[in-house]
Amino acid sequence: MYTVVIPPDVRAQMERHAGAGLPNEACGMLLGTVDGSAYRVREAVLTPNRMESPVRFAIPDGDVLRAYQTAGERGMDVVGVYHSHPSSPAVPSETDAAYMELNPGAWVIYSGLDGRMRAWIRDGPIAEMHIQTGTDA
Ligand SMILES: [Zn+2]
Repeated sequence: MYTVVIPPDVRAQMERHAGAGLPNEACGMLLGTVDGSAYRVREAVLTPNRMESPVRFAIPDGDVLRAYQTAGERGMDVVGVYHSHPSSPAVPSETDAAYMELNPGAWVIYSGLDGRMRAWIRDGPIAEMHIQTGTDA
């Protein structure tokens, strides 16, 4: 099973970013390292939602570039994408599922509906990842 490891402070930043973005979806990119089936997030690059929509998100191109540059400078990779669903469960929408083919890695979704954070990965079909809040897997 795939695991995504999220440090507690990074998780708190992601949850605050979701709240600050309301009523729209919030988004960002996750930097860290991949070790087998463990995706270790070290840092979240939280960005504006270019779509300014409660049901869609897009990370501005400049922020995507900046995330890759930051990752490279710090010896990390872009390991995933983060976004919020203000009023639906933390499961990928059909649009998300399509974008998951273009942007592989861990897709972490935070639901404003129930405050749950869930993570998904496309490995053929879409599979749910185990989220571990901590620094070690
Ligand atoms: Zn979504």
